[in-house]
Amino acid sequence: MNRISYTDLDMVNVPKNLQKIFRRTQNYVKNYFSIAQQNPEKGSIEFSGERYILVRAASMSKEFFDMMALLYKDRGKKEARDLSFNFLFDIAHSIGKADAKSFFSKMKLTDPIEKLSAGPAHFAYTGWASVKIHPLSNPVPDKNFYLIYDHPYSFEAQAWEEKGEKTNFPVCVMNSGYSSGWCEESFGVSLVTAEVECRAKGDRYCRFIMAHPSRLKGCITDYCKKAYIKYDHYKKIDIPEFFKRKRLQDELKDHKVHLEKLIQKRTDKLTKTNQRLEEANIALKVVLKQMEQKEKNDKENFLINIKQSIMPYLQELAQTDISRGQQVLLDQLEKNIDQITSPLIGKLSSKYLNLTPMEIKVATLVKNGVVNKEIAQILTVSLNTITSHRYKIRTKLGLKNKNINLRSYLLSLEE
Ligand SMILES: [Zn+2]
Repeated sequence: MNRISYTDLDMVNVPKNLQKIFRRTQNYVKNYFSIAQQNPEKGSIEFSGERYILVRAASMSKEFFDMMALLYKDRGKKEARDLSFNFLFDIAHSIGKADAKSFFSKMKLTDPIEKLSAGPAHFAYTGWASVKIHPLSNPVPDKNFYLIYDHPYSFEAQAWEEKGEKTNFPVCVMNSGYSSGWCEESFGVSLVTAEVECRAKGDRYCRFIMAHPSRLKGCITDYCKKAYIKYDHYKKIDIPEFFKRKRLQDELKDHKVHLEKLIQKRTDKLTKTNQRLEEANIALKVVLKQMEQKEKNDKENFLINIKQSIMPYLQELAQTDISRGQQVLLDQLEKNIDQITSPLIGKLSSKYLNLTPMEIKVATLVKNGVVNKEIAQILTVSLNTITSHRYKIRTKLGLKNKNINLRSYLLSLEE
């Protein structure tokens, strides 16, 4: 393992084996920023012909956190802090990536270590912090990438320190974002940084660990064990995720799609159940109708049996020489049979009531509202014949001597 040994580079301390490369890129960056042109009339600042903007440091650190805390005071400190943290990390990470890309092209750099080496100098000249890379670092272009480094004079820690406010969480989130953005662009590997110790919360230095997103948590845990960092402090270390909000939005979207599918599935199921219920209902109606029909048929058969099997014999008996007493009994018998059958007759169709074919024709025409005279013409018989048929029909239907309209009665049989 390399022994910690820092160089006498102006603004960047790096392990010995990297010094040569760093010195070369640092000189390039130094020259780049020496050609400055401020042009307030035009409202522009340029270095080597590239336009820059100046931003007051505290407005992007402590004051930004304060403003968000005020804006989100109804949602609590934790949510306000997370939002500030994620926002600043994403912005700084994006700037770091873009600056790196632009610089690599200007310097015509292709080697990842050379690309990395330009970062700290650029970082220092643009006023973010100076950089001190620990020799335990392993900057390689794959998932094993590991960088442990300090940012002395971090603009973010200073903003808090100057307000005399000691935090209970690491504050140098833009430092984390920018450096991981630069290195990600240098090595072509996804990288994120967490600040494990921070001067703003009273630690000795602002120290960062950068690794692949899948490895970072493990690296932090290892470091905290070795550095005897208390669990209380360890659990307050924010592990950033570049554009976490996008992942959350995607998850939300996926969840929405999942819910919509679930609702559709349940709706389909309900529709099918409704269909089955409707079918069952129709089947039930058919069965009920059949039962009603059967009941009606049973009544009709009962009536027919009485009319055909009993009544003729009674009528024949009435023609014989019977005594007065027997006549009274016979009358009573007829009356009783009439009483039993009359409630059944009401709803029965005329064809079961012993109507002759001619009587059925007349009954049908009467039911259809044809007057006697017309019926007589249609059936080519006399009006008297029709009157006679009507009388017989009324008798057979049990309407004799009753104040019931024949047509209405025939219509009611159809219901
Ligand atoms: Zn810090």
